[in-house]
Amino acid sequence: MHSPNCILKVVIDTPLRKIFDYLPPANIDESILVPALRLRVPFGKSKKVIGLLLEVTDKTGIPRHKLKRVESVLDSEPIFGQELLYFMQWARDYYHQPAGDVFLGTLPRLIRTGSNLEVSSIEKWEISEVVEKQTSEFLKNSPKQKAIYDYIKSHKQPLTSGQLSDVFTNWRIPLKQLERKKLVSKVTQENGISISNKILSDLKLNPEQEQAVSTITSRLNDYQPCLLYGITGSGKTEVYIKCIQEVIKNNRQALVLLPEIGLTTQFINYFKSRLGLEIAVMHSGLTDRERLNTWLRTRDGNNRVLLGTRSALWTPFKKLGLIVVDEEHDLSYKQQENFRYSARDLALLRAHQARIPIILGSATPSMESIYNVMQGKYRELCLGRRATGSRLPDILIKDIRGKNMTGAFSTSLLKQIEINLQKNEQTLLFLNRRGFAPVYMCHDCGAIIKCPRCEIRMTYHKSTGRLHCHHCGHQERIPGQCPQCSGENMIEIGHGTQRAVETLETLFPKARISRIDRDSTRRKGSMETMLKDINEGKVDIMIGTQMLAKGHHFPGVTLVGIIDTDHGLHSADYRASERMGQLIMQVSGRAGRGDKSGMVYIQSHFPDHPLLLTLKAHDYKQYSSLLLKERADTGLPPYTCQALIRAESNSKERSQRFLQEARQLLAGSGISHDVFGPFIPPIEKRAGRYRMQLLLQTENRKLLGKLLAEWIPEIEQLQSSRKVRWSLDVDPQDML
Ligand code: ADP
Ligand code: ZN
Repeated sequence: MHSPNCILKVVIDTPLRKIFDYLPPANIDESILVPALRLRVPFGKSKKVIGLLLEVTDKTGIPRHKLKRVESVLDSEPIFGQELLYFMQWARDYYHQPAGDVFLGTLPRLIRTGSNLEVSSIEKWEISEVVEKQTSEFLKNSPKQKAIYDYIKSHKQPLTSGQLSDVFTNWRIPLKQLERKKLVSKVTQENGISISNKILSDLKLNPEQEQAVSTITSRLNDYQPCLLYGITGSGKTEVYIKCIQEVIKNNRQALVLLPEIGLTTQFINYFKSRLGLEIAVMHSGLTDRERLNTWLRTRDGNNRVLLGTRSALWTPFKKLGLIVVDEEHDLSYKQQENFRYSARDLALLRAHQARIPIILGSATPSMESIYNVMQGKYRELCLGRRATGSRLPDILIKDIRGKNMTGAFSTSLLKQIEINLQKNEQTLLFLNRRGFAPVYMCHDCGAIIKCPRCEIRMTYHKSTGRLHCHHCGHQERIPGQCPQCSGENMIEIGHGTQRAVETLETLFPKARISRIDRDSTRRKGSMETMLKDINEGKVDIMIGTQMLAKGHHFPGVTLVGIIDTDHGLHSADYRASERMGQLIMQVSGRAGRGDKSGMVYIQSHFPDHPLLLTLKAHDYKQYSSLLLKERADTGLPPYTCQALIRAESNSKERSQRFLQEARQLLAGSGISHDVFGPFIPPIEKRAGRYRMQLLLQTENRKLLGKLLAEWIPEIEQLQSSRKVRWSLDVDPQDML
């Protein structure tokens, strides 16, 4: 029997920030009710949903007779430990996000839908031994079976249902038939974990690496945030590996976070073969079952290392001993929708709670991290030399004012490309704009074709013959004539990657050119194939967006051309120059990693810009101190803290009224702050909805936290808040 006052605080997946109160199920032993159990509860008029028990108390603000009873308890023990629960609680308090997004949204989907929490095996299929000729004869009359058979055969590894679904529809029946014919057989494997059979031997660390490793490993039982500030190619990965080895010796697990783009097969394989042990991976490409398996195995301590993108941060560990955040400056650590959080910032908190070291690695750290080093909050570990002994490339800034251009390229850059082709060396060109031309306009009247839903210019994609809106995804056929003056001289202005490839193909008809951007890598696995081709020397020139800049090794590249930087030097967003500097250093870091030295060629209309000059000297330290000085002078983060409220609705007035009312609520607050807006963001309309923003700024985090804790519940009470879609972004990374 339960005491008359037992109240259960339950998180339910709703957009509301509140936690719901329930009574325990009838006739249950109350002592089994502990936090982190899943419960099935009645919700709304007639729905039953799965919630997570947060707390058992005797307090409620609701009259008892109005409380509903929990219908059933799904688990006999908590699905994860206290450590993760505290972590989630803290994250919720810091970001002021709806509880459902934090406590449920971060769990594998199968947990939220009530699955049994058992590691289960995953089906994979491989070819059974069969003589080739016979087989094709055998399958002559069933093209689908043959296609599937050939596809499986073309892979060395068994394929999962997910991999088959990527390529085939309705493949189960033909596959069953193949199984019956004993051409294909099912292998059952526990997923997620694999051990490499090839073990690479240890490298001898250089003194800087040695110093970094010994600093980190000397105190494995303490919170110890370290910024591993190492130029591209300085051997940061080796430092991670040595530290992980130490942690494993102590019978603990390691979590390695990577940017979305960094988790390539190449990287995973390297890790496996260096550590020679089981590695689990977690990223958005997993099936629900794979994700759950990895989550469970990590929770139960059945794997030593988890490599993953930002969502891996929400995995429970049996005994976490180290966190690594590679490329800590990368924007993909920030989740920009639903639950807005920074996985890097939260990783620090998690390490703090677990009292373990955390390594933030980067060649181009964020201003926040450099500032934290200055404040004495992080320890800085520098790697100033390339580990292989190769030289950093020379950086040349080419003044293109008044110069002849062929498409996006200056004559002198083209000359360099030609020389490089003659030498049979690879060239990497960086142009951060996908599509063919960013502007499509009428030559007669100057009208620019804009997205009807966002009112911003659309990009012409020659491959589809359509105009694409890069903000909402809207597409339309190119108009034959101007919608404004009916003129028939429509022209394309500016250069995207597709157009640049066209220019290069005309100029260098024999060169093998590969384009890498979001459009060309949309198909699963295509990025991997392209990277492989590049590394096998099957590509002469690669041109791409920022996808090319990050984390990849291209030992054969000796010339890097950066087509457009002027944009980043003169943007309204104060973070644009930070990002541009990081990109230039990262792209430059791709050059000359092999035994030949490299050259970087930057085209600019502002060759004397102080920021460009520091980059030319490979002096990211100087670059960042210029930026930080600017931020200090203007009172911007990291010298202040910000929170942004975004509102959108199909009426401009409604968005504005809501934010005005929200702003008025602040007037009574005794906590010192600045507030800006409501203002119109750079992209005023998105997918047909009008957007407005309100920016809040305080001197430090503590003040911001206190202010938001007062303010957000009041905002939720506003009538006008129910008529718009709004969201809160603490520590926003952009104002779009
Ligand atoms: P980063 O991540 O800092 O850009 P990597 O960790 O990828 O650099 O290392 C760059 C290259 O240097 C790799 O090929 C790696 O194998 C090599 N390397 C790292 N440490 C050493 C070392 N101590 N001795 C020799 N080569 C090393
Ligand atoms: Zn649009």
